[in-house]
Formats: sequence, structure tokens, C-alpha cells
Amino acid sequence: MRLRSTLALTLVLAFSAALALAPFRSSAQRRRGVSLLLVNGKVFTSDARGSIAEAVAIEGERIVAVGTTREIEAAYTSARTIDLKSKLVTPGFNDAHIHFLQGGRSLMLVNLNGARNLAEAKARVAARVGEVRPGAWILGRGWDQTPWGGEWPSKKDLDEVAPANPVFLQRVDGHTTWANSLALSKAGITRATRDPQGGEIVRDANGEPMGILKETAGGLVSRVVPDPTRAEMSEALGRALAEALRYGVTSIQTNDVPSIDATPLYREFLKAGKLTVRVAEWQQFNNSVEDIKRERAEFAAFKDDPFRLRLTALKGYVDGTLGSRTSAMLAPFSDDPHNSGIPRMTPEQLTRMIVERAQEGFQIALHCIGDRANRMALDGFEATLNVRPAHGDTNLGMRHRIEHAQVVAPSDFKRFSGLEVIASMQPSHAISDKRWAEDRLGEYRVMSAYAWHTMMSHGVHVPFGTDWPVEPMNPYLGLYAAVTRQSTDGQPPGGWWPEERISIEDAIRNYTAEGAYASFEEKEKGQVAAGMLADLVVHTKDLLIVEPKEILQTEPEMVVFDGRVIYERQKK
Ligand SMILES: [Zn+2]
Repeated sequence: MRLRSTLALTLVLAFSAALALAPFRSSAQRRRGVSLLLVNGKVFTSDARGSIAEAVAIEGERIVAVGTTREIEAAYTSARTIDLKSKLVTPGFNDAHIHFLQGGRSLMLVNLNGARNLAEAKARVAARVGEVRPGAWILGRGWDQTPWGGEWPSKKDLDEVAPANPVFLQRVDGHTTWANSLALSKAGITRATRDPQGGEIVRDANGEPMGILKETAGGLVSRVVPDPTRAEMSEALGRALAEALRYGVTSIQTNDVPSIDATPLYREFLKAGKLTVRVAEWQQFNNSVEDIKRERAEFAAFKDDPFRLRLTALKGYVDGTLGSRTSAMLAPFSDDPHNSGIPRMTPEQLTRMIVERAQEGFQIALHCIGDRANRMALDGFEATLNVRPAHGDTNLGMRHRIEHAQVVAPSDFKRFSGLEVIASMQPSHAISDKRWAEDRLGEYRVMSAYAWHTMMSHGVHVPFGTDWPVEPMNPYLGLYAAVTRQSTDGQPPGGWWPEERISIEDAIRNYTAEGAYASFEEKEKGQVAAGMLADLVVHTKDLLIVEPKEILQTEPEMVVFDGRVIYERQKK
């Protein structure tokens, strides 16, 4: 009733307006019906100029027009018009480096994130021991020994609380694991076991494995851990999607291991209408070229909508992490003068593998933390300059990527731009690592670490991500880190190496448009523009003007995905 009278009134007003403004009459009559209108907002379009609009017209899954409220209302009509009440709208966030299924699964494991001391970590493991039967594996992740005094924990600590369950716990960076005696014995690790290539079984003074396994050594245990069941993986994906939804993440570029087993799960959710992110899945760089091509062919046979589910880069690892002192450095760590990290392969091996895969037209994404690893990858990419891919769209270029690009030798920044290599970075890493990064790197190298501003000033594309579950999936935390270089409690005042701070506009662009570029989709998404996919976030606060600490208190008011409103914040 009320609706009808409002409608009648609108018609009367429209009619009198049409009489009063005769020249507009014909256009008013031709107003095009669309599925959704957003009006009276502050729309950050994420284009290169930082344009702001007020209103968006959406038909189906695409944006058809962007403009002022007056322009959009004059040209379009919809059964659903949402008054944004001046709220900020941006494109949906694109997490350009994530481990989506592992992240979802981490929500089901023993969570050691934020354990302030060894006793707290042990208590969390003990709690899980009480919930499961003897003999069942206890898996967890997120521990970090640096606030516990820096010493590695040992198998004995876990044996005390879990004598009858094998325990296997990944460090926060996922590159070092902590196991108890039962887990080591199930994996057959004894004092006679040699260190595998690219890894280390840390031993005590008597040569006895102490329960800490670095890099590939963790694989000795993980291969005897039973695989998660299909039902468990489905639950993990559901949890990951719920997490993405509450943060306004509408696109992910994900490395799920094993990746090819992940795609049927995503496909199942897509068919059921439950896949509320666009998925760019990575394959494993280390697999043989034949296997990679076979996987591509099998994937292509399903003819999925490429803007909902696609295979993009090949993900490889050149080194480990700074936290575990396994990143490959040009010079030893400042706090460990006999150690310069562990490259996962020789430069010759790496270059050969890069060239072979580039020849087949594959985009390559290499995890590089240390300056030596970054240089190895750049050298390998340089060797592809004369490679003509056998297939693939060569006009787009290869867009090879270095993931993390954490410590880069000053002379190598210009090589990123010269070789058109993408630097895929995670701002929250900097504010997590700053406590000890300076000890590891020393005062000189730290100046070119986590250097996203320097990268951008060289014209390098810098998509942002989180590496979830290494860091929270929360993109607002990433935006805050990018613009402040401060931990969430505001330390240090002025920011850690504040020269590397960037504007909030650039940070949002890196989280949206640059992410789309990194997966070859900049013509499809990442900006609020006519023709683009309609993935939008309406924010509770105006990120462009609030104090940085308020960025941390911001959340989505509403999320539009594929042209539909899929999330609305509960009014408190
Ligand atoms: Zn990662």
C-alpha cells in the first residue's frame, strides 16, 4: 500500500518534472531498467586518477554506468535502489596472495597465533588432547618463538602434554614445524636421518633431533599425516568463504596444496551458488611441465566461467623465511653470522625451470624473501626475455611475479620495472616482522626491506595480499600497515621506515586494480567502471579521510558480488 502510493507520488513528480523540464522528457521516458542502483555514495573508482563518483548502475553481474546520482537516476531505473547515505564504496578487495583452503582449515586446527609464551602454547595443545582419542593426530599452526625468548621449543615440551598423540605444529610462517616424539617416530626420523635437500632437522648437542624441522624437513612428517577428508576440506572452504565475506574480499589468488585437488571443491561450491569469491588458483611450479599441461587440459574440459574459477600462475619457492632464518641472503644474517639462509635450488636449476615453463606460456610466481632469492628470480626472468611462448596471449606479456619481494638489494629495484616483474607484497608482514627484522638484516639492508613505496616509485605493479593464514585475511589491517608502517598499537610513532608509507588511495588501488592486473583481469574487475564485474564493498567509515587507527575499526557495511548484495552488516 505504502509502496503503491510512493510509486504514484513518484510518477506524479516525474510527470510534473517532465512538464517543467521539457528537454529532459524524452530521456526520462527512455530510462533503462537495471537490476540494482546504488546512489548518493562516495565511490572510489580505483582508476589511475583516483576519480570519485556518486552512483553506480548494475545490470546482471556487470556495472553498466558510473556517475553522479543525478546522471544515473536520469538514465536508469531499478526495482532496487540503495541510498548509500554518503558512505564510501570501493571495488571488492582482491587478495593477491593467499592460501585459501589452508586458511579455512587453520580455523579448524589448534590455533597458536598470539600465544605469548611456551606455557600458553602447551596449554592450547593440551586442551585439544582432551578432545580427541589417543593416537589421533593433533595439527596446529601459528606459533612464534620470538616473543618466547627466541629459543626453539622442543619435542619434550609437547611430549609433556601429548604423550599418546602425534603432534605436528607449523610455525606462523608455515616454513618451520615443531613435532613431538611420537610424530617423529611415525615419520621414521632418528639421529641417523640425514637432512633433506633444502631443509634441516635441528639437533641437540648430542645429535638427537629436537623436534624442530626447517623447510623441506617438515615434509618428512607431513607426508605421514593423514590427508584431510573431503568433508573436512568442504568445511574448510565454507569457513574461508565466511571469513572473506566479513572482510569484503571478493577475489582471491590462491595457492592451495595440492592445488589441482582444490579445483573440484571450488567447482562444486560454484555450481551450488556458494562460491562468493572469484578464484584464481595456482599450480605448482615444481611439477613437471607435462603434468602442468595435463592439469590445464583437464581443468579446461570443465569450461568453468573463467571470471569465477581459473588457473593462473605457477607457484614456486626460491627460499624460506626471515623469521626462520631460511631466506636466501647475499650476505649472512646480522644476528647469525655463519648463516645466509637456504636457497631451495641452484640458480642454474631455477633459470632452466623458469625458461622451460615460460616457453609454454605460463605466468610464474616465485616466493622470494631474501635479496639473494630475489636476484636469482630476476636473473631467471631475464633469461626469458628472448623466449617466444609456444601459446598464450603474448600481447599481454608474461607478467611474472615475485611473491613477497621482502628484502631486495637496492640495485635490483630497477630490474623489477625493466623486466616488468610484478612485486606481490603483503603489508601486514612488515608490521609483524619489524620487531626482529632489523636484528636479522642489520641497519643497512633493512632500508630496502618491505619497500613497497620504492617499488611503486620505480613503476612496478604492487598487488597486495595477506598470505592468510600467515597473517589475518583482514584487508583493513593491510591498508593500515601500508599507510602507517606501525603495529596496531601505533608503534613506532611516525612509522617503521616511514619513507615506505603510501597513500590510502594507492593502498586501495593495490588491493583492487593491481590485483586484477596480476591475474590478467584488469579489463574485467578491480575498478568501478562501466563494463566491469560488479564486485563492490560499502564501508562503515570513509577510509579516505579517517585517522589511520580508524581504518582498523572499519568493516563492510555491505558487499555486492557478481551484481548481487550478498552481505549486509547487522545493525547493532
Ligand atoms: Zn604464501
